[in-house]
Amino acid sequence: MISHAIAMTSSSGEPHHIEIVFLDDGRVSINCSCTGSQMGMVCKHRDAIVRGDDSLVVDEHKRVYFEIHQAFGGSALKSRYEQYAATLAQFEVDKKEIAAKVTFAKKQFAKMLSDGI
Ligand SMILES: [Zn+2]
Repeated sequence: MISHAIAMTSSSGEPHHIEIVFLDDGRVSINCSCTGSQMGMVCKHRDAIVRGDDSLVVDEHKRVYFEIHQAFGGSALKSRYEQYAATLAQFEVDKKEIAAKVTFAKKQFAKMLSDGI
């Protein structure tokens, strides 16, 4: 097991601490100290860490983060993230289609009310 700690800037000014652990069985564990992550969400910090976005990583940790991100290639993380991102993208499409159906149903019923039922 190899553990790394990365600090990321936050809007409050207090940095968030991301712990990245390469487990002996090949899995990678990523946890963040922010409220969203503590509530079980994929916070923007963990999302950025997986994507390779170092814009929130504090300057003194950018180099080690680059090396950590390179090591993600040896795990299932990258392909799992791609599946996750594709699923979310499809759900966004589905959400727009459903929103359009809701709007259509509301307009139809509004017209019925106006015209007389
Ligand atoms: Zn976070």
